[in-house]
This record gives sequence, C-alpha cells and structure tokens, in this order.
Amino acid sequence: MTPFDTVVVVDWSGGNDTGAAPCADAIWACVAQQGRAQEPKYLRNRTAAEDWLADLFASERAAGRRVLAGFDFPFGYPKGFSHALTGTDDPLAVWSWFAAHVEDTPKANNRFDLAAQINQQFGGQGPFWFNGLKRDIDGLPRTKEAYQSPFPPKRQAETHASGAFSCWQLGGVGAVGSQIIMGLPVLERLRKGFDAAVWPFEAVDKGIVFVEVWPSLTLGAGPTDQIKDAWQTVELARSISALTAQELGVILDVDRSTEGWIFGIGHQDTLRDAATRPPRLSNSCFALPPGVEWTPVDTALGILQQRLSPVTAINTCPVDQATGAVLAADVVAIRSNPPLPNTAVDGYGFVGGKDIGLYRLPLLAGRAAAGDAPGHVPKGSAVRILTGAALPAGVDTVVLQEDVTVADGHVAFRGPVKRGANTRMAGEDVAQGDIAVHQGTRIGPAEAAVLAAVGTRDVQVHAPLRVAVLSTGAELVEAGHPAAPGQIFDANRPMLLDIIRRLGHVPVDMGQVPDDRAALADRLDQAIAQADVIITSGGASAGDEDHVSALLTQAGAMTLWRIAVKPGRPLALGMWSGVPVFGLPGNPVAAMTCALVFAGPAMARMAGQDWPEPQGFEVPAGFTKVKKPGRTEFLRARIRDGQAQVFASEGSGRISGLSWAEGFVRLPHDGMQINPGTPVVYIPFGSFGV
Ligand code: AMP
Ligand code: MG
Repeated sequence: MTPFDTVVVVDWSGGNDTGAAPCADAIWACVAQQGRAQEPKYLRNRTAAEDWLADLFASERAAGRRVLAGFDFPFGYPKGFSHALTGTDDPLAVWSWFAAHVEDTPKANNRFDLAAQINQQFGGQGPFWFNGLKRDIDGLPRTKEAYQSPFPPKRQAETHASGAFSCWQLGGVGAVGSQIIMGLPVLERLRKGFDAAVWPFEAVDKGIVFVEVWPSLTLGAGPTDQIKDAWQTVELARSISALTAQELGVILDVDRSTEGWIFGIGHQDTLRDAATRPPRLSNSCFALPPGVEWTPVDTALGILQQRLSPVTAINTCPVDQATGAVLAADVVAIRSNPPLPNTAVDGYGFVGGKDIGLYRLPLLAGRAAAGDAPGHVPKGSAVRILTGAALPAGVDTVVLQEDVTVADGHVAFRGPVKRGANTRMAGEDVAQGDIAVHQGTRIGPAEAAVLAAVGTRDVQVHAPLRVAVLSTGAELVEAGHPAAPGQIFDANRPMLLDIIRRLGHVPVDMGQVPDDRAALADRLDQAIAQADVIITSGGASAGDEDHVSALLTQAGAMTLWRIAVKPGRPLALGMWSGVPVFGLPGNPVAAMTCALVFAGPAMARMAGQDWPEPQGFEVPAGFTKVKKPGRTEFLRARIRDGQAQVFASEGSGRISGLSWAEGFVRLPHDGMQINPGTPVVYIPFGSFGV
C-alpha cells in the first residue's frame, strides 16, 4: 500500500499579496490521492497558504491519512552556511533562525533587510544578492559585480538539476532566494505544529513529511491557456500520488545531506511514467451501504459501474497496431468519409433535374474512374463514370449504365433523373471533425475500418488489463495429475483464464494455493507485481477455511457482497496493496456465473471500456418452474425449436450443465410462474463477450 494517502504540492511565492483574482505570481497548491488530483487552489498570500495548509494537515491527520507535502524551494543552503549562521550544522536550525527573524505580512516583509543583515556578518558582499527595493540597502549588492559569496554558489542537488537557480539570488525571473527566506518560517511553524518530518534531514516515518520538489525537473510549462504554476502543481501532485510504494521508497532513499535534496532527481522517467497512469481505485470502492442484507443484482452492478474506473496506463500507438485495444480518447475524423462526392454505380454523370422525357447529351471523351482526380464536365454534357469515382465539377447526378443507350458520341435516357441520384455526398458517413469512434470502445475489425477511412494515424489506447487468476482450496489438484481420494481437479482456473482471454484482457496464471493464509498472502503479493486485477476462486465466504475473505478483511479493505442471486455464494471484493481482488465462490457453476455477470463488466470498466450491458431477448419458455421472489436467477439454457430449454438440474455442482448450455435464462428478482410458452429473457453467452 502506498505509504502516503495524500500528496499536496505547493508552488511557493516570496512576494506580497497578489489580490483576489487568481494570477500567476501567487502561491498555488494541489492535493492528489491515488493518482487523482483535485482542482488547484489559489492562495493569494502566505498567511492564506499557512492557514489552508494547517487546515489540510489537521483534517488529513484526523482521518488517519499520511501526507506527503512538496514545496518548490530549497530546504537547505550550500555547505557551511548553517554553521556560520547558527553555530550548528543542523539545517533545521536555519529554519528556526528564519522563523525568529523574518517579519511578514501580506503587504510587506523584511527579507531584503534581513539578507543584508546576514551579509554584514560575512563582510557585506554576500552570500545574498539582488535588491528588489528602490532604496539602497547597506551590505546587499544589487548586481553580481560587487558580489562575493563566502559560501559555494550551489548545493550538490543543483548540480544534478540543470537550470536551477542559486538560493542566494533574491529576485529576477525564476529566482528562488526570497521564496526560501519567506517560506522556511511558515514550514517551521507547520512542522512544529504537526510534528512533520523534513526529508532528507529526518526519517520519513511520520504522519506528515515535507519534501523539496522542483516541478520543472519533469514537467513542461503545460497548456498555454492555463497558469503554469497551477498546472504544474496538479501534474506533479497527480504523478507523485500515482507512484507505487516501491517507487516512492526508491526516490526517497537518498543520503541525509544537510543541504537538502530535490525529490525525484535521477528518477524523472519514473515520475513521467507515473503521470501517464490513471487514478488508482480507492480502498473503499467496494464498500456497500450499511444495513443491506441481500443486495439485488442490479444494485450490485450499479455500484460497480459507479465506483470502478480505468486502471491501466494510456499510450499512443499507430492505428494498425491498435486492434484489440481500448480507445482512451475519442478519435476525431481528420478527413471526411467519403472525402469527396462520388458515384455509387457505374453509369453516366451529368447535371440532374426534373425534366421529363428524353435526354440526349454529348458524351465527353475519356472517363472518370475511382482514384482519378475530379475533372470538369461542361454544362449539357455527360461523362462515363465508374463506381467510387469522385464526381467531376459540373456533375451532380449519375444515371445507371443499364438505363441508357450510347450512340454517335451521345448518351440517351429518359427523365426525370432526380438530382443527386446514385451519388454519395462528401462526409455523408463521417464528416471531418466528427467523432469517428468514441473513447471506451474496444477496437475490433469494424473500428479498424472506420479509423482507417477517416485518416487516423495514431490513437490513444489503454494498456491491456492484466488479470491474475488464482484457485484456492486444499482439495485442488492440477487437471491431469494424480489425485488422491478426497481431492478434485481444478476446474475453475482453465475456465476463468479463458473467459479473461475472450474478454480481451491478458490472463496471468497464478496457479493454486492450499488453504493456508501465509501461502495465500505470498501468492497475492506475487500477483500484484504482474497484474492489475486479481480473480480468485474458493474461500470467499465467512467460514473457517475461507482464507481469501479472511486475509482481505485483515488487510482492512474487503466487503463480503451477499448478492441476491442464484447460483452464487458471497463474493469477497477487496483490495490487496491497492490492487482490486474479486473473490469468486469456489463452486464452478457459481464461479462462472459470477465471473460473467459481475467480474466481466467490472473488468471492462477497469480496462477503460464502456460499461457493457449484456443484451438478451425474450423467447417462449420450454419448461415449467415456480420462481421464488427475492433473488435473480440465472438458469443454464439454450434455444431449441424457438424455445428456451433449461438444464435438467439446477444443482450448482453440475459443471457439465455449463457446457450443455449456450446462454442463461435470466429470471427477475420478483417471483414468477413459468409455463411452456411464458416469455423469458434469454442471454446468449456471446452477449457476455465470451
Ligand atoms: P469454497 O467456495 O472454497 O467453499 O468451495 C465451494 C465448492 O467449490 C467446494 O465443493 C470446492 O471443492 C469447490 N471448488 C473450489 N475451487 C474449485 C476449483 N478450482 N475447481 C473445482 N471445484 C472447486
Ligand atoms: Mg475452499
């Protein structure tokens, strides 16, 4: 699990109040969780920022959440300064020193005088330079000419970050010096008030950790219609919060330099990669409303539809390599289909009209064929034209070749021939600028044709959803292997692996685990390294040997879904280190039903697809049944002689009935008397996508 629940990134400012209207020079902040960023927050001055951060920290801690707070100014100075100023090498002593000496109100502050005062201690020519005020200040050089610093110009970290400004420069575009002087007192009060740890000076094991960030290390300036600082806080907060625990651990693992360090140096690719990841699902995404005993099927599906979102990364890929993938963005036609008006038949092109009677038009030499650039036909003439040819200028109508006679260089036929007959208009299928294929569509043969027809070259697609499949149960033996008395062959795994493959996802076979909690935990850990979703079968109820539900409950993120459905036992839906787990019942009939009815649409959503609604149709029943109210039933069924037949036994251990069937008859939640001929809803397995 990510060790930080909440990430906040703050773009600081060393200046004064910037007014009520959001603007560029202000302080901007953004909060993100699990790869999902909130709206950026405009903070007009440091008092407002300090209050806002204090409220944020208080509420996050009260909710038991850990916070990683990033600020875009150095937390320390080049070697030697701390000792010279405070008598100790502890960089946090500099924080306290500034907190004690800085005077700050939204309208004015003493940063230039304070910098001059420090400079005076070291001979009056440095380390600070740049005076943003009109009056001269003794000991503070305005330019670098009279400047001399007793300390190195940059920190170690800055030698790895090209373009970074020296912390001694107090002003000028991009300078960071004033931000440090005006920022450290605020951070000092917040760190004391909330017992925050400061990276990399201190261990990162507290509820709130401050890190120094530099958005430009990984990010550009963003879209031109947005304020750069606001955009950068959003992007950086989002990408940091999308890091895995392991990636974050690696990035935070640096020497405890007393100069401070910039978060992410050397790991820019990891951060950029994280920025392409969609938001993770929240740990509570499978929570059910309290007090519900048996959840109706439609309610359960509604919750999954509402709570689940795509979990796979988005990539750009050439359209000819995109079949089978799910579109992550709408594709807009860059060219109309058809691109030009053209003829739908072989015949003769001319200007059509309402005239009744005989037409006899001079026939131009040559012809217009598919692929020819459109030529020109003078008014009153006709031209030979072949299917698919663009209409020449001067032609708007085509008469079928079967309806004409050609003689003496003329073509003759009877009118009227309606204007536009036998032609296709430009863009009548898809017009340039229209959405040709919508986001959420899995690209199949039909989409491949449409995308090609409108001139698409590259598309944005989701990486395939990797689904781990794991069977649990002490009784299970791999099919075909010797089985001792009391053992059974694992039927669920081959079934589930094939369902996943047919649904367009990537199955990841995680084998079987006995009813042993440690072994199961170990296997789940292996699964999350290779998959985006885990499907288990067996052990999902609340019994002694139901270890899937027990482990997920222990991990603090599981809900036992008692769905009013037959066949079916409770589903254990939970999260294992941020990866969703679908705990299906062990019984193969229930496992397949639940996989198709619940896990199928859920996986579609997580793969980036639109929520699928398996389409059924009414057919007369070929059986008799009294259906009890209070649950939805899925009967193994097939159609013969126009009637729905159901499998002879409803026993949920009868695996052969799954193969006998070609679909389900879905009986509604309410009670129902079914006689031969009663209309029932039949849903072919194909409608579930398998
Ligand atoms: P459980 O959900 O673990 O209580 O299992 C319910 C029933 O399904 C038991 O009879 C199990 O033996 C059976 N079962 C569990 N997993 C499988 C499997 N992978 N293949 C076939 N049967 C299974
Ligand atoms: Mg079991």
